[in-house]
Amino acid sequence: MRITGTTRLAGIMGWPVAHSRSPVLHGFWLDETGIDGAYLPLPVQPQHIEQALRALPILGFRGCNLTIPHKRAALSVVDRVEPMARRIGAINTIVIRSDGSIEGRNTDAFGFCENLFDAVPDWQPGAGPAVILGAGGAARAIVAALADARVSEIRIVNRTLARAETLAHDLSTSEVRISIHSWDEAGAALRHAGLLVNATSLGMAGEPALRLDLSSLPPATPVVDIVYVPLETDLLAAARRRGHPVVDGLGMLLHQGRPGFEAWFGVPVRVTDKLRDAILATMAPER
Ligand code: NAP
Repeated sequence: MRITGTTRLAGIMGWPVAHSRSPVLHGFWLDETGIDGAYLPLPVQPQHIEQALRALPILGFRGCNLTIPHKRAALSVVDRVEPMARRIGAINTIVIRSDGSIEGRNTDAFGFCENLFDAVPDWQPGAGPAVILGAGGAARAIVAALADARVSEIRIVNRTLARAETLAHDLSTSEVRISIHSWDEAGAALRHAGLLVNATSLGMAGEPALRLDLSSLPPATPVVDIVYVPLETDLLAAARRRGHPVVDGLGMLLHQGRPGFEAWFGVPVRVTDKLRDAILATMAPER
């Protein structure tokens, strides 16, 4: 990469930000496309998020990604919030518009769907109820994505039922019924399910294990784990042993980056095996 006087700028704001793989992801696409652009880590403390976002158009940035702890706080700073980000209640992508205004978007729902359809192209939204483990930020994006894909019933299993109730209240529509279940009811919730997604942090390196009896899940139902460290979680290993189609979380991470890149640098990009390998190489010690 060479920096010139006309290099287009983007980056990722987070605190901390050093662990983020987004610079490797966007750096890969910049190299591949040969675009005169740069994607920088931007360590921004929580109390400075408003100043930092307001500085983007002044400094000539095309936009940026947001990660922990800025995704919710940015909602009250930006000039415009895309409807999907408003529904999810979080912003992960900032685009500076031609008039200098700041737009907030959320690309996690897009990333989830692209990854699912890439990995299991014959999955049908009408296959049966989708069971989502978790009710945090990622679960909200996945529920919004599945509702838009015309899944008509979604079962949320979560430890904190109040959080699941808020999700159901915010994201239910006349076309999607969202029910809430405790972990004790998880086995029953899996009956007749057409999709199972882990959107909790359970099973992630350093977090408690995810223990779930899959025996009531129909045999052909795809199992998705959005945790990507490790890539093959215990849930995916158990599902694979039972013959379910399995989908790991790395593809979601890669696909969610595409809309930002395309908005900032004006070129479509793809998720390829070469890109997966480049990102996996950065994860080697944890796999
Ligand atoms: P979050 O908002 O903090 O939500 C965490 C979820 O995990 C909540 O539902 C929480 O339940 C549950 N949980 C955590 N510890 C638990 C425990 N000990 N027992 C039972 N439930 C527990 O986090 P998030 O942003 O949604 O992210 C969740 C996971 O998805 C993380 O591992 C993250 O790395 C991953 N992720 C992956 C992608 C991707 O692109 N692949 C994108 C986003 C997130 P309570 O509500 O009861 O606390």
